[in-house]
Amino acid sequence: MASIELSLTEEQRALRAGVLEICKRYPGEYWRDLDTRREYPDKFVTELTEAGYLAALIPQEYGGAGLGIREGGLILETINYSGGNAGACHAQMYIMGTVLRHGSEAQKREYLPKIATGALRLQAFGVTEPNSGSDTTKLQTTAVRTGDRYVVNGQKIFISRVLQSDLMLLLARTTSVDRVKRKTDGLSVFLIDIRDLKGFEVRPLRMMMNHSTNALFFDNVEIPAESLIGEEGKGFHYILDGMNAERILVASDSLGDARWFIDKAVAYSNQRVVFGHPIGANQGVQFPIARAHVSTDAAQLMRDKAAALFDAGQPCGGEANMAKYLGAEAAWEAGNACIDCHGGYGYAEEYDVERKFRECRLYKTAPVNNNLVLAYVGEHVLGMPRSY
Ligand SMILES: Cc1cc2nc3c(=O)[nH]c(=O)nc-3n(C[C@H](O)[C@H](O)[C@H](O)COP(=O)(O)OP(=O)(O)OC[C@H]3O[C@@H](n4cnc5c(N)ncnc54)[C@H](O)[C@@H]3O)c2cc1C
Repeated sequence: MASIELSLTEEQRALRAGVLEICKRYPGEYWRDLDTRREYPDKFVTELTEAGYLAALIPQEYGGAGLGIREGGLILETINYSGGNAGACHAQMYIMGTVLRHGSEAQKREYLPKIATGALRLQAFGVTEPNSGSDTTKLQTTAVRTGDRYVVNGQKIFISRVLQSDLMLLLARTTSVDRVKRKTDGLSVFLIDIRDLKGFEVRPLRMMMNHSTNALFFDNVEIPAESLIGEEGKGFHYILDGMNAERILVASDSLGDARWFIDKAVAYSNQRVVFGHPIGANQGVQFPIARAHVSTDAAQLMRDKAAALFDAGQPCGGEANMAKYLGAEAAWEAGNACIDCHGGYGYAEEYDVERKFRECRLYKTAPVNNNLVLAYVGEHVLGMPRSY
């Protein structure tokens, strides 16, 4: 039976302390500088990888730490709580899950130990397309089997960390929609080596925040047939299998952001004196911060519940989605309270508030937008008609 632990175990506290120790070496100036130049936090991610934290969820038999999603979430939450941005590396934790659950033994032995040591980086996940957006089954990138290869053609948009990855997990259509019973069939997942791939073009996009995001173009790109993960045509279902982990981990990013904003807002409101008293004594300043704290604690309980169910191998679709929703909304609420109480200083780059404000906003939209989370809850938790 799953049960929620209300406090961290000794091992979890040690895990958090270890991550914090690394994060201390990468203060606000580090992230701010990279943000201005829109550059990847290579040094930070390398150190985190070498210390084994990004292999937390890889089983020990494949060279990882074999920890649970609760621990994976704790690592990401700690990075964001310390002022950093786990978005630079969080995807590795959930992408490799697809290989672990659906890859062949040979694929797992080939890739997972190298991913665990950092010899190979798997940070890129190519799903979204310009013409399909959230309606994944309508994606138009095709992979056509010809002999011992697949030939890939199409486009992807908003695909992050491609230039910082050796491998990418790609979702493409292998059987056209008019030849399958359900539109969710006929999509396949590939684990492809994107180093020196002919016909593959990556165009970086300058986004609102530093997220190493790109448009991708596939022009008759040939990949070996062994790149296929699991069975051809079952890719959509494999991706769905990984969604709960992704939701719980992204909720953890958001919780770290929310706590960072709240600590920062409390400290500033207690020391900033205007009209002869600390601004935190004004209910108009104090209550939004207190409300954000209430939202964050509630979001954390849902994240912990989802993680406990996930780690016990029990269904957790509703909880994982609700955790992602509550976490993203709590971080946004805390970000607004933090920027408000800082007055003009909230907009000054050197305070990091505006950077974190931009960074936390993403999780209301990606990897799934909060409207679609509500659609999931309406349909699958409450039994209402499908709304889309
Ligand atoms: C910085 C960044 C990084 C990203 N990284 C990746 C990545 O690495 N890999 C990847 O595959 N994708 C990535 N994405 C894409 C992201 O997952 C999508 O942007 C997101 O899923 C929404 O798709 P869309 O942008 O096409 O919006 P659309 O699907 O066009 O939707 C637009 C808006 O309409 C609303 N909407 C749409 N349908 C409904 C509905 N049925 N009911 C109610 N409201 C609805 C939602 O509010 C939604 O936000 C990234 C995006 C960003 C911004």
